[in-house]
Amino acid sequence: MMIVTSMDELRIGRAMLDEPVGLVPTMGFLHEGHLSLVRKAKEECLSVVVSIFVNPTQFSPSEDLDVYPRDLERDLRLLDPLGVNMVWTPTPDVMYPPGFQTWVEVEKLTQPLEGARRPGHFRGVTTVVSKLFAGLQPQRAYFGQKDAQQAAVIRRMTNDMNFPIDIVVCPIVREEDGLAMSSRNKNLDPQQRQAATVLYRALTEARQAYDAGQRGAGELRRIMEDVIAGEPLAKVQYISCADYDSLDELETVQGKALLSMAVYVGKTRLIDNFVLQ
Ligand code: AMP
Repeated sequence: MMIVTSMDELRIGRAMLDEPVGLVPTMGFLHEGHLSLVRKAKEECLSVVVSIFVNPTQFSPSEDLDVYPRDLERDLRLLDPLGVNMVWTPTPDVMYPPGFQTWVEVEKLTQPLEGARRPGHFRGVTTVVSKLFAGLQPQRAYFGQKDAQQAAVIRRMTNDMNFPIDIVVCPIVREEDGLAMSSRNKNLDPQQRQAATVLYRALTEARQAYDAGQRGAGELRRIMEDVIAGEPLAKVQYISCADYDSLDELETVQGKALLSMAVYVGKTRLIDNFVLQ
């Protein structure tokens, strides 16, 4: 497994890879969710590259960049047995050298949901992913449905910018009690960890109502709000029932829809979603 940091090392390593090359972009502190993307990439590509970079430009000053968990040694130990060919661990200086001033921005899709609560977040994401794409030039790139809006934004950007890359979106991997795996779960104490199952319970109740025929988006949002309100350690940031493609809030669910939410448990901000179709 090659480990590269600088753009020069990346170029030399890239030239040694058999194609198709699959890229799995991550911020590290890997868990089964990330590893599921790696396994999928391994099935479909002759070479797999995992990037590990806690991208400062997608965090606002008030966010958790400083406490974002990091453990490169552990990440490398998890990746090696999966047959990953190369790990790219750029430093902030490699990605944002002095004088950096070029940004990639997706306009409309980044406005609601995460974009509305995390100003500048998607500008950071699309810029760094463009740089990963341009630097590595993979044939395929793997993302998780866990970050549903991110996946939609990356698809849009890839299309709009003519990147010749297939975007593959993989299902959410969950703990046994339903909590979506996330590097941020590490910041939950045992009581908060227990309370964090409330996101999955809220989504499940809304889906049960949908399965029983409920099509009122307001009613589905209310069901989720009520479940979260029953958990004293949880505080809703947003709850949404939106059109799957446009991410516009719905009145009535007709086609494919996205139930999604951001909830604080203590200081930790958790997101989760279900697709209705
Ligand atoms: P992150 O390191 O949080 O930036 O995540 C890197 C990639 O892994 C993103 O495409 C995420 O959507 C994906 N991912 C994170 N958690 C999960 C999960 N529980 N299941 C599936 N994919 C995930």
